[in-house]
Amino acid sequence: KLYNEVQDLKGNIRVYCRIRPFLSGQSQNHTTVEFIGDDGELIISNPLKQGKESRKLFKFNKVFGQATSQEEVFLDTRPLIRSVLDGFNVCIFAYGQTGSGKTYTMSGPNLSSKSDWGVNYRALHDLFHISQSRKNSIVYEVGVQMVEIYNEQVRDLLSSNGPQKRLGIWNTTQPNGLAVPDASMHSVNSMQNVLELMNIGMMNRATSATALNERSSRSHSVLSIHVRGTEVKTNSLLRGCLHLVDLAGSERVDRSEATGDRLKEAQHINKSLSALGDVIFALAQKSPHVPYRNSKLTQLLQSSLGGQAKTLMFVQLNPDVASYSETISTLKFAERVS
Ligand code: ADP
Ligand code: MG
Repeated sequence: KLYNEVQDLKGNIRVYCRIRPFLSGQSQNHTTVEFIGDDGELIISNPLKQGKESRKLFKFNKVFGQATSQEEVFLDTRPLIRSVLDGFNVCIFAYGQTGSGKTYTMSGPNLSSKSDWGVNYRALHDLFHISQSRKNSIVYEVGVQMVEIYNEQVRDLLSSNGPQKRLGIWNTTQPNGLAVPDASMHSVNSMQNVLELMNIGMMNRATSATALNERSSRSHSVLSIHVRGTEVKTNSLLRGCLHLVDLAGSERVDRSEATGDRLKEAQHINKSLSALGDVIFALAQKSPHVPYRNSKLTQLLQSSLGGQAKTLMFVQLNPDVASYSETISTLKFAERVS
């Protein structure tokens, strides 16, 4: 009950924590996760320290332990996703250090196995399913855009002219506000369409990088799903948008070691992640001024952050004790916005 009140106070911001399992070959003994409560409690401890100071308590709307399946995670995400069909704007982020499971949660480890599907495929599958079941009263059209933000530059990942084009972001006169008018919009009506597009997106991401994983951990990728519904009886229009964001890795880069391009990337990531934190913090505080203009990411997502929009952040953790300090800094970010 308390949670509902807290949630109301905070507007429509939810924070879920997901803990990645140990990968095969990793030692299971050195975990920082001491306790997970049913009501969203998480206790992190530093096994290298002793006594009370080694433990810290964090609270979320939900905590998903290592054994949680993709389906279980989706069941708790689905209500938000379905609200897009009723005209809401929704933004779902995955935040965490590289290797903490952001891409696993948002997309899944591979496309071939349905049980591995992450939030994005399940969301589209569900949207198609529900819109089909409503087709006698509302006819829905679904369009997708996919962009990457790297060093504060926005690029269309689904462009037929190759991935190098730089895009601007500006206000449109659409009822749901900001969009990326330059990014190509692709109409989809089946999972086959979606899987083909995602493949193009991933290839475009890869061709611009020497190593896909390297680059993908230092850029944000944003999949935007635009839904337009026409009521059959009245002909009235309804629009909703779902942004699914796989954020750049939040790890701190050692300033004494990073130079040149690496330092520049790190500064851009730092700047945009703190801009995102500042926006969500301002919204949670119901502050009259929300600083959307400080990064491309927050500009792009403005219409889906605040107002009637709903926001969900997955805080991703690697339970390994070697990640302890990154885990704590991730949790501090989450604490500020939740
Ligand atoms: P990130 O995108 O945050 O860098 P990834 O999603 O690529 O991290 O995850 C890192 C590794 O951990 C990958 O090999 C991924 O398949 C694996 N992994 C992450 N989360 C899970 C999970 N919940 N269950 C099983 N394997 C996972
Ligand atoms: Mg990733």
